[in-house]
Amino acid sequence: MEWEDLAKNPKLIVNYGLLKEIGVLDYIENLKVTNKNKDELINEAYEIFLKESVDELVSYIIKCLSEKFIPTDLIFILNEGISVSKIKTYAYHNMNFTKINMDLESLEPYETFFRNYSGTTSFSLFEYEIADPRLIEPFNRFNPEIIVPIKGLSGLYGIILFGPKVLSEEYSKSEIAYIDRLMKFTSVGIQNNIHYEHSVKDSKTGLYNHNFFVSRVNEELARCRRFRHSSSLIVMDIDHFKNFNDTYGHLAGDEVIIRLAETLKHTVREEDILSRFGGEEFTVLLPETGREKAIVAGERIRRAVEKMLVDWEGKSLNVTVSIGISTYDWVEKLSEKTLIERADEALYKSKKNGRNQVNLYQSGLLFKANQAHSSDII
Ligand code: GH3
Ligand code: MG
Ligand code: MG
Repeated sequence: MEWEDLAKNPKLIVNYGLLKEIGVLDYIENLKVTNKNKDELINEAYEIFLKESVDELVSYIIKCLSEKFIPTDLIFILNEGISVSKIKTYAYHNMNFTKINMDLESLEPYETFFRNYSGTTSFSLFEYEIADPRLIEPFNRFNPEIIVPIKGLSGLYGIILFGPKVLSEEYSKSEIAYIDRLMKFTSVGIQNNIHYEHSVKDSKTGLYNHNFFVSRVNEELARCRRFRHSSSLIVMDIDHFKNFNDTYGHLAGDEVIIRLAETLKHTVREEDILSRFGGEEFTVLLPETGREKAIVAGERIRRAVEKMLVDWEGKSLNVTVSIGISTYDWVEKLSEKTLIERADEALYKSKKNGRNQVNLYQSGLLFKANQAHSSDII
């Protein structure tokens, strides 16, 4: 039976005064509010689980919280690495995003505390239990009142600090309960995002990994067939990298790989998909791109790498890459395997012809691009 029907019952009307006096009506009102809040929370949880990146998720949490109250400072400190520590902070002052530098390398020293206190906790209790001012120091300037852990299967993923409310009242019991519940869902959402990122990306460079790349190539080829357009694939391999490692050491080689990935990120378009295909091999999928534009892109990459200088132990090091390109024409109906093989074949040609160059696969014949085209296209 609905409350509206009960409310019309003549017996209730006769006894209204009594029910009001003993608090039954207020109690029912409270239950209705609690019920509405729970419905809202379920919707929020659903939204949280749908977010495709930690950035999007944090923005959504900010929106949810700001409908209830405004903390002077709200700081998310997340460990986005799984096997290694990679701290990232999101800071909001009066709910506006602000850039901060947090001097914190790892969340590990706080693990034990949050093993004992798994939910929303007062910052003073945290400070008291941690009992080491050096571990509290990074947080002090935000004057936190509440601290909340983001916990999951791999331990502590993050902590969230809530500064005092802008309207300087204390956080109410119901606000703390809301924070506690919302943050439990946030924990699951953040974990999902972090694990998803790790399953599709290479941890050294942040580029997509081999498997994810191949699945994206497959999807793109299906789109090409459906919409009758062309897409291209670039594969590249660092030249004489074994020699480089032997001369400067493996760590210098690792640094080159990281810097090369950065260079690639700045050299390709937003819609291009970059991957670390293997050790020192990288690939780029160029959606809706025909041969000529792919050659321009390949040549732009080749030059950017050639110009890239890596500072290492007082020396300025550089490498070059050889590049192979293949293009998918919707009329050809190639498999992703053939497309990759063709680009590899063109790459092999670049290696054989002296390295640091771009070659395009053309059915039956290979087309040396960097000399024939680069000067007039670029
Ligand atoms: P080529 O010009 O023919 O490509 O010569 P190369 O020496 O680069 O080719 P090769 O395939 O013989 O060697 C690739 C080298 O790349 C060997 C391997 O140690 C190195 N390598 C692969 N991945 C990494 C990595 O993550 N870090 C470092 N430092 N080296 C790597
Ligand atoms: Mg290689
Ligand atoms: Mg190589």
